[in-house]
Amino acid sequence: MIKYLLKVDINMDEFQFINKIKQDFYVQPSLHKGIGDDAAVIRENGQDIVTAVDIFVENIHFSRQTMQPFHIGYKALAANISDLAAMGATPAYYLVAVVIPKKWSEMELAEIFSGMQLLADRHNLDLIGGDTVSGNELTISITVIGYVNKDKARYRNQAKDGDIVFVTGTLGDSRAGLHILENPQTCKYKDEQYFIKRHQQPTPRIHFASALNNISRVTLNDISDGIANEAAEIAEASNVAIHLYDEKIPVHPSFKQFNPYDQYQWKYFGGEDFELLGTVPADDWPKVKNSAQQTNTKLNKIGYVLANGQGIGKVYIHSANNVTSFLPKKGYTHLK
Ligand code: ADP
Ligand code: MG
Repeated sequence: MIKYLLKVDINMDEFQFINKIKQDFYVQPSLHKGIGDDAAVIRENGQDIVTAVDIFVENIHFSRQTMQPFHIGYKALAANISDLAAMGATPAYYLVAVVIPKKWSEMELAEIFSGMQLLADRHNLDLIGGDTVSGNELTISITVIGYVNKDKARYRNQAKDGDIVFVTGTLGDSRAGLHILENPQTCKYKDEQYFIKRHQQPTPRIHFASALNNISRVTLNDISDGIANEAAEIAEASNVAIHLYDEKIPVHPSFKQFNPYDQYQWKYFGGEDFELLGTVPADDWPKVKNSAQQTNTKLNKIGYVLANGQGIGKVYIHSANNVTSFLPKKGYTHLK
């Protein structure tokens, strides 16, 4: 099934360009009007609608030294649909507003949209609108719209005393990939392509998040700024303390090749892994494991929630030799 054939000429104007990125048909049944009028129309089908928007600016959120146009498009949409996963929602539509500098060729622009389309196809998303203007800095703003069963949106203020803290995937990979991309001259690393792919084409955990549907209370947050930051957001919103075991924070087997200081910084503060951090009542933990199995998602129990006592709104790390330390709320600012 091919929704579009992206062929771009060298001298297209804005309208020809929109025509090129427009899908030949739409897959979402709730769409009433897609691209081609002043706005798109969706007919609500009894579920809750979840929507989010993000902006990506060249040299602030990404650099052409480490990201090809295809990756820029892919990752921009991945970051957006990861926000919907963190709500337990399934994305259905996206709109793209782009500011295009003169120095970007039509070809490169088409590659940005191809990157988005690859991910959109994988998750049955329809592109239903946007805006195209010229300007100084390449800027991409994506709005994503999705659905979640009524009252099943996963808020970050729902963590409670005794909850289990879990995380999907492995952490620090994206930052390790960036390190490899930025230091091409230095020694060769093991599994370079793995880390680079995790940086350029992360996997938002959409299927896992929606497989949690049968659980009444789950807290979710996606790891865009590092687990230290995301855990603190849950702790603050829920008025709880979050305790994590350092040796249980999942990392890739080759992660230990990097220097110990970097490992620590990257896994806690690296960000852009787009894994899901969550809390769930201990009784429902088997259901979470089940959802992970069904969706082929790596899952680890990494800590617990305390609501009575000290450190409300804070995150603590327990080291292997049982020293407890406070984990500061800071994230890597993804400048290049
Ligand atoms: P208007 O003048 O009503 O804002 P535009 O000329 O900006 O219309 O856009 C025409 C149609 O093309 C609209 O449906 C709009 O949503 C869509 N569109 C424009 N730019 C993009 C884009 N970058 N991605 C997807 N759809 C776009
Ligand atoms: Mg417009």
